[in-house]
Amino acid sequence: VTQLADTADVAIIGGGPAGAALAIRLAGAGVQTLVLERWAEPRWRACGVFSSPLTRRRLVELGLTAEQVGDLSRPISSLRLQTTRGTDCVLEYEHGHACGFDRVRLDSELLNRAGHAGAEIRTGTVVRSIQLPATAKDLASLAVSPTGSRHTGDAQVVKARLVVGADGPGSVVARTAATTRRYCWLRKAGITFHRADPDAAPETEPMIGRFVFGDGWYVGIAPVPAGRVNVGIVVPGPALSRPLNETIDRTLGAFPGRRESWMSAPAADSPAVAYPLVHRVKRTAGRGWMLVGDAAGFIDPLTGEGLHRALVSSELAAESIVRWLRGDASALDGYDRRLRARFRNKDVVSWLLQGFLAQSRPFDYALRRLARRTRLRSTFTLAMTDQVRASTVLDLRYLLKLLMP
Ligand SMILES: Cc1cc2nc3c(=O)[nH]c(=O)nc-3n(C[C@H](O)[C@H](O)[C@H](O)COP(=O)(O)OP(=O)(O)OC[C@H]3O[C@@H](n4cnc5c(N)ncnc54)[C@H](O)[C@@H]3O)c2cc1C
Repeated sequence: VTQLADTADVAIIGGGPAGAALAIRLAGAGVQTLVLERWAEPRWRACGVFSSPLTRRRLVELGLTAEQVGDLSRPISSLRLQTTRGTDCVLEYEHGHACGFDRVRLDSELLNRAGHAGAEIRTGTVVRSIQLPATAKDLASLAVSPTGSRHTGDAQVVKARLVVGADGPGSVVARTAATTRRYCWLRKAGITFHRADPDAAPETEPMIGRFVFGDGWYVGIAPVPAGRVNVGIVVPGPALSRPLNETIDRTLGAFPGRRESWMSAPAADSPAVAYPLVHRVKRTAGRGWMLVGDAAGFIDPLTGEGLHRALVSSELAAESIVRWLRGDASALDGYDRRLRARFRNKDVVSWLLQGFLAQSRPFDYALRRLARRTRLRSTFTLAMTDQVRASTVLDLRYLLKLLMP
């Protein structure tokens, strides 16, 4: 390893939405910020596209214009929830449309913005290992090398006062800080890709998103720009032992109703796989390190909140980092507390949904009840899109009204 005098106040590992949003905020506050991103060019990878109206608002707060956000996304006016057993329920987005993002363009736009704000962006650079500071006065030390390089001689050392893991569920920062929780059950895999949609409405017209639930699997279908749909298939982990195309064909073949036109349309990219989906951590910050976005925890794509959470965590992180750099030693612990408090109830909702999903009959029952009760459905939709507190749908009165025969 060649030692270089390469230092930054804050080194962010990962240039996805969480890392880029944090870099925009830190560089804007005058903090010397370095982003290290594995891929040289933006590319489709296993991630999500469906998001709530709040995400669009937060992107505008980061400096994108409403027109740019509109161009990067496609409005979604309602979400149809169907099971292969015949249950059907439609959630209407009455208080602002949800949307489906072109993630490759969104991620690239955010990273460019971080560069314009003054952050140094090093793409095509992978962080191999990290040495966290032993004392409050030490710097973190990162071994980085060009992506794809196999020569240890190509590795360089970057030093930073704070290293931020914005590197998704397999976070090297979370692993180094020994904060990753081991997870044995619920080992699900996500398979995602785009297809052309011959039935797509004109670009600015809202379309419908969908979830189709089968036994042990579900599929999310979100319309995205350029006349395409994004397909996200969540299956039990062992399904990955079969060829990917077989799993995709088998799952889409189990859809209720006639075969849909996008199913036979050309693939817009190769399927990308995420496994395992669940990533849980004990803490989200410690001496010289911090986690944002999926690296700070991810349960399941079903609640469609990953992007929103990435932007919220990066906002909370930026505030705490600025305070910490100014000498507030408690600021990193404060971030851990605030982030947990912010998402605690939504996590409970996510786990509750996982419980229902695992049991097809109770799931169908709850969905049928939701389909028949307009006000409960409206509250559920707002809670799912983070527009009312998640605790609203955990309230005993709400649950009784929904579930009592
Ligand atoms: C199958 C699936 C479906 C999903 N569906 C949805 C959805 O519908 N709605 C929603 O809101 N969310 C969804 N999500 C979650 C959503 O994709 C994430 O919440 C969002 O991408 C989080 O952004 P992030 O910046 O934290 O992480 P990521 O987007 O994962 O970005 C991490 C970045 O770090 C880089 N990186 C990783 N390791 C290193 C390293 N060692 N060195 C350098 N760079 C590194 C990666 O290349 C990547 O660019 C889904 C996720 C999956 C897997």
